[in-house]
Amino acid sequence: MSANLTVVWPFGMISVSDRRLTGFASGKIDTNRSTKMTVFGCSDAHGVIVYNGIGMDDAGKTPSEWLMSLAEQRVFELPLADIVGRIAADTQSRLISLRQKYGSTRSRHTFVVSVWEHDVPAICCISNYERADEAGEAAKASERVTVTQSSPTKIKPIQIFSTGSHPFHRDLEAISSAIKARAQLNRIKALSVKAVKDIAYGRGRAKAVGASCQWAFVGAKREEIWFGLDVVGGAIAQETPNLINIAANVPLGGTLSARMGGPGMLIMDSYAGLGEQAKVANYDQAQKRPVFREAACGICGTPLPASHRSCEVCAYEQHSGSNTKRGRA
Ligand SMILES: [Zn+2]
Repeated sequence: MSANLTVVWPFGMISVSDRRLTGFASGKIDTNRSTKMTVFGCSDAHGVIVYNGIGMDDAGKTPSEWLMSLAEQRVFELPLADIVGRIAADTQSRLISLRQKYGSTRSRHTFVVSVWEHDVPAICCISNYERADEAGEAAKASERVTVTQSSPTKIKPIQIFSTGSHPFHRDLEAISSAIKARAQLNRIKALSVKAVKDIAYGRGRAKAVGASCQWAFVGAKREEIWFGLDVVGGAIAQETPNLINIAANVPLGGTLSARMGGPGMLIMDSYAGLGEQAKVANYDQAQKRPVFREAACGICGTPLPASHRSCEVCAYEQHSGSNTKRGRA
């Protein structure tokens, strides 16, 4: 299981997603750099897609790659309603064999699509076990994938939706209060990232949830999209969410930023950074794709992406103070 959070209000939209991928059978951490976020534009809308549930199918494809396959079939050139319908149908057919093999509890899966459609924000939930328009979730996955929707209203202008492991109530309260107080966007983003981070680090922490998160802020205008990576202990490079048919900006520190993507472009496995040390991947000619270095932490063995300055699991041990600050070289 992973964790993601979507916050939608009349002036903005923020999504946060963890990047950990644990093995179906082993329960071990396979990688700490699985991208579970896709920013997209289509003919009548733009927004962000995050997910939880299936981390990787038996063919070695992640749900982010399922979305890219649809994009290669030009599905994202259609209007939003058609795209959502196509994602639901594609997901339902892919989940049939996974459900047969792993059972109805472990084949639960949800895509959350948050969008601006004609200047109106909305959250759309494509799932076989939960809905956007009511709280709670089914313990077992249905054979059918259902599409539900929820939009901010006058009475409830701030909508917060999380799937997978859920954030602490106090963290969600802090986000709502910041939006109501018209806090700076950076603060709302930081609180949203903290909410997901706290799932990984909080009491009864979820080991299947990583503490390093990708985030995206999406404004009503297509030009107002920012995204990036938030890593415990700092990042050497920004590994960015995937992009379909849209451009986004990534902050590189200070006043510097980079702009990536654009209409007609599909971008995955990308990163941005300053200087030679920010080079965290090499293009592999044979595989025709970038290969990101991910060593094992020398202390605990957890996968440690080259973009991270330090190990997030060891950072937790230090943070929790359980082993009285032994030799931190
Ligand atoms: Zn470690």
